[in-house]
Amino acid sequence: MNHSSSFKPIIIALDGTSSTGKSSIARRLAARLGYTYIDTGAMYRAVTLLAIRGGAFAADGSIDEPLLARLLDEAEISFHLNTETDHSDIYLNQENVEREIRTMEVSSRVSPIAAIPFVRKALVAQQQAMGRHKAIVMDGRDIGTTVFPDAEMKVFMTASPEVRAQRRYDELQAKGMPATYEEVLRNVQERDYIDSHRATSPLRPADDAVILDNSHMTMDEEMDFLLDLYRQRACQDA
Ligand code: C5P
Repeated sequence: MNHSSSFKPIIIALDGTSSTGKSSIARRLAARLGYTYIDTGAMYRAVTLLAIRGGAFAADGSIDEPLLARLLDEAEISFHLNTETDHSDIYLNQENVEREIRTMEVSSRVSPIAAIPFVRKALVAQQQAMGRHKAIVMDGRDIGTTVFPDAEMKVFMTASPEVRAQRRYDELQAKGMPATYEEVLRNVQERDYIDSHRATSPLRPADDAVILDNSHMTMDEEMDFLLDLYRQRACQDA
């Protein structure tokens, strides 16, 4: 798409509940527009992996926050293009952890980690730096409310918990990663609850976000919807 002459570079914030297919559609949209795509969930997952590996979780699931703060202080989280898949993979201290962050163990521990204010502060600062030059599609939970409250285009994506659990379950099956549908559904519901009830940047649509319920939409329909909105928001004369 030619966006150089009549379209200005904008920030596209795609927020929503877990397993709505945000990442897939965000990646596709970014590729279509020639924009950078950032999966902020992957960043919270990388911090969770750091906490697991560094022994910051006690047996009862509680988190040693001072230890995690030290680990995070010394850690480097970055994205690098994978030339085989053409996707940006996430790296934790120079190690590609794209696969390790998608396990059920990380999924079941990520929401309490993402509720810790110093974790959010560090990652939000990094995300804001990434969007300095606009032309970015960022997906997450608080992009339109906290990271980029002035984003030109904000979309809040959702679908029923059952539809989302089925999607995540199919994805795990395809990757040969063990999980049952019931376990995945429980995880989706638990994360929705923790994400929307935490004190810092709870999951909620920004007042000026467009709501997109994709329970019964194909990816092509979603793309058409998003491209229409993009054209309105990025048009120079708007
Ligand atoms: O997007 P994904 O499901 O991979 O995100 C994993 C978890 O990271 C979410 O359940 C949420 O707890 C947290 N998250 C967040 N803020 C973001 C992105 C993700 O709190 N911007």
